[in-house]
Amino acid sequence: MAKRPVIETHIHAIIPETPRVSTFRLGLPKDSAFTFRAGQFIMASIPDFQNDKGRPVRRAYSISSSPLDLGNGYLELSITRVGEGGYFSNRIHAAREGDPILVEGPYGTSFTLEEANPAPHLFIGAGSGIAPLRAMIRTLLGTQSPPEIKVVYGFRKGEDFIFERELVGYAKSVPGFSLIVIHSRPEPGWEGLSGRVPDVLPNLFPKYDGQVVYICGHPDMVSGTVDYLQLAGFPEVAVRKEQW
Ligand SMILES: Cc1cc2nc3c(=O)[nH]c(=O)nc-3n(C[C@H](O)[C@H](O)[C@H](O)COP(=O)(O)OP(=O)(O)OC[C@H]3O[C@@H](n4cnc5c(N)ncnc54)[C@H](O)[C@@H]3O)c2cc1C
Repeated sequence: MAKRPVIETHIHAIIPETPRVSTFRLGLPKDSAFTFRAGQFIMASIPDFQNDKGRPVRRAYSISSSPLDLGNGYLELSITRVGEGGYFSNRIHAAREGDPILVEGPYGTSFTLEEANPAPHLFIGAGSGIAPLRAMIRTLLGTQSPPEIKVVYGFRKGEDFIFERELVGYAKSVPGFSLIVIHSRPEPGWEGLSGRVPDVLPNLFPKYDGQVVYICGHPDMVSGTVDYLQLAGFPEVAVRKEQW
């Protein structure tokens, strides 16, 4: 991939989402010409944070805010602290507001939103895979006549629901927007859907109905979902995916 310019940003705000995930709102320089399409990712690094070979530690992160938010001078990354051994994610979770972050990008051409597509949109995400999907959803909702939007979102249990207020808020207030959540490790008292995302899909979407589909999550979830959608008759061109 062709190298993109590096932009010096700073952490403008750290927004806790769940016990393991925070959204890092990065302030852009006033004269920044940075643009991107919903679904793209950047390479992030922290000045002076190097590996044992003296090279900068860089990691890919999907942009979780919409290109429309650039007008307010920021972009957001929503990052899971992977725990023991998570080199970069632990380091950024220890950062403070005001700290500098280097952003290189945007990258990615295949997992981008086609804003003008009027087809019903189906977003299927798991865990932090909701990040680029949230960028797409915010972008669609900023258009004059958003298409029908269905979001299927899988995560472990209630406390792991990233963007809960925002997504539940859309489901309550935006016509044509619906949200289905699935807990993979439900706690006692959970009365909603539970299990693996691909296992729940046959009941929800027994056959292709003209949707365009964006899937993002861990590789098992993505491949299981793609396999099911193929069986259900979803054409390959209608299905886009990203995984990590
Ligand atoms: C296109 C793209 C977009 C992404 N977007 C996001 C996003 O929006 N949000 C997000 O949270 N992440 C995202 N990621 C993942 C992100 O790039 C990092 O991989 C993630 O943050 C972990 O980085 P780390 O440095 O903390 O962990 P690493 O140090 O890279 O380690 C990752 C895991 O591997 C284990 N590990 C490391 N080294 C070894 C080893 N030698 N042997 C065995 N296990 C090992 C660690 O214990 C840890 O669990 C994205 C990835 C891609 C490719």
